[in-house]
Order: sequence, then structure tokens, then C-alpha cells
Amino acid sequence: MTAQILDGAQLAKDMRAAIAQQAAALTARGHKPGLAVVLVGEDPASQVYVRNKVAACEQAGFHSEMHRLPASTREADLLELVRTLNDKPDVHGILVQLPLPAHMDSHRVIETISPEKDVDGFHISNAGLLMTGTPLFRPCTPYGVMKLLEKSGVPLRGAEAVVIGASNIVGKPQAMLLLQAGATVTLCNSKTRDLAAHCRRADILVVAVGRPRMITGDMIKPGAVIIDVGINRLPDGKLCGDVDFDSAKEVAGFITPVPGGVGPMTITMLLQNTLEAVERSI
Ligand code: NAP
Repeated sequence: MTAQILDGAQLAKDMRAAIAQQAAALTARGHKPGLAVVLVGEDPASQVYVRNKVAACEQAGFHSEMHRLPASTREADLLELVRTLNDKPDVHGILVQLPLPAHMDSHRVIETISPEKDVDGFHISNAGLLMTGTPLFRPCTPYGVMKLLEKSGVPLRGAEAVVIGASNIVGKPQAMLLLQAGATVTLCNSKTRDLAAHCRRADILVVAVGRPRMITGDMIKPGAVIIDVGINRLPDGKLCGDVDFDSAKEVAGFITPVPGGVGPMTITMLLQNTLEAVERSI
């Protein structure tokens, strides 16, 4: 069997075209969507992520503002900036790029963002709303995974879904979204015994660990949907996922590539969340 590829790059392109149209319609009504991105320090990976987010906003016709602060910034000054952005009517979404420098409490910073503008969905009240099944914002990466699953056409209701990795930004919210969609969910972490046995039960397997090619074809149920969230840089500079694509694609029904799978969806869902914030604010 050779799996069908779930092409995140194409889906992201299609969704961004639709988002740009909605942004134009909102702008014509005097509600141009606006996203503020805050970067503290000079972490090279964060600089790339932030640049990509701002570029995506501009391509979609959003107002975007970039706030770059030195790594030596006092936490109190960052909190002040966040409060100012909370009050700005042309800013509908606020994103503080993580990780923050060690002298800052990232929880306190995220909790200062107004929940109505927390387009990353990391604020504790948004995490709580997600838990109770009424999310204001869905965290971008798991939200993008749900769109890819929708694209596969595979029913989630009653499906066995296994999520590997239980971080606050990917694994845990992913499990909640799958549960809400009617799947029976198992959430695995680094202490899980016999990971392969869990994987082999999965109709839907979402892997978000950060270990290159840890899931191999022999761990996959024939015909399963495999979503590879992992992004790992190999010694030769190439990117690979947490799934061994070559062996997995011979067994799976659907599979996301890395790159070109979940990655392009994450920024797309940030734009989508910002649009949702505008619509809610009107
Ligand atoms: P993280 O915060 O480091 O969490 C990793 C999770 O994996 C933890 O829950 C950990 O378990 C679990 N884990 C570690 N080793 C394991 C093992 N051997 N078996 C089962 N579970 C294991 O990572 P993250 O931020 O969620 O990111 C995960 C990966 O996704 C990374 O490669 C990251 O680059 C990628 N990512 C991609 C996107 C995208 O847009 N495509 C977005 C975000 C992240 P414990 O809880 O027990 O420690």
C-alpha cells in the first residue's frame, strides 16, 4: 500500500486565499484584521518564525505590527507593552513569541494578554474553555491538524486516536480537539509503556515529540491516518519529522510529509484565529 499524501502546503495555500478574501471584506467594512507580534531577544529560530508570521499577515491583507525588544528588557516593560496592545482597537490578535528570556515568567506574560486577543490560544482561560468544549481560540498547530484530518475525509467519530507527546501547545490541546470530535483518545508521553502497542491500535496517529523518525512502519495500523507534527534538523541540514516517512507510507492510508504537512498549516491557523477575533469583536 502507498499512502495518500495530506498536502498541508496546498491546503494552507487554499485557506490563505479564502482568508485574504474575508480580510478584504472586513477591511471594506472598516474592520481591517490586525495582528501584533512581540519578539524579545535575538533567538535565530524565533526571528525566522516571527518574520514568517508577519509576512503571512501582509500577504493576507492584515494590519501587522512587529515589536522587537532586546533580551535585557525588564518583564515589567514587556507587560506594559502587552497591556497597551490589549487596548489598541486596530490590534485583534497578540502573539508573544516563545521562548522568552530566562528572567521572564512566560506564564505571567501570556496571562496578561487579553483572552479575546490570545490568538495562540495559550492563555489559561482559553486552555480552560478548550477543556470544557467551548474554545474561544484553538491553539494553531492542533487546529491545523484538525483541518488536515477534515481534508482526509476519515470520520473521527468513534475512531481510535493516539496522540504521542503531551505538551501544552500541541499534544494536550490536540487530544481535547480529537475528543470533542468524537474520537476515543489516548495521550502518550515519555513514560508510556509499550508505545508501539498504542500506535498499532490507532486509526489516527498524531506524533508531536521532537525525535527524528521514531515511529516506523511496523508500528502503524494498515490504513491509518498519520499526522507528523515533529520538525527535526538532521546533521546534514535536512528537515525530517518524528515519523519514518519511507516505511510509514507503505502501511498508512494517509500521511503528512515533513516539510509541507503540518508546518504550513500552523501560520494559516494563526491568521484564521485573528479573523475569528475580528468577527467576535464586531
Ligand atoms: P515538547 O514540549 O518538548 O514535548 C514533547 C512531548 O513528547 C512531551 O510530552 C514528552 O513527554 C513527549 N515525549 C518525549 N519523548 C517521548 C517518547 N520517547 N515517547 C513518547 N513521548 C515522548 O515538544 P512540542 O513543543 O510539543 O513539539 C514537539 C515537536 O513538534 C517538535 O519537533 C517541534 O519542533 C514540533 N512542532 C511543530 C510545529 C509545527 O508547526 N509543525 C509546531 C509546534 C511544535 P513528557 O511529557 O513525559 O516529557
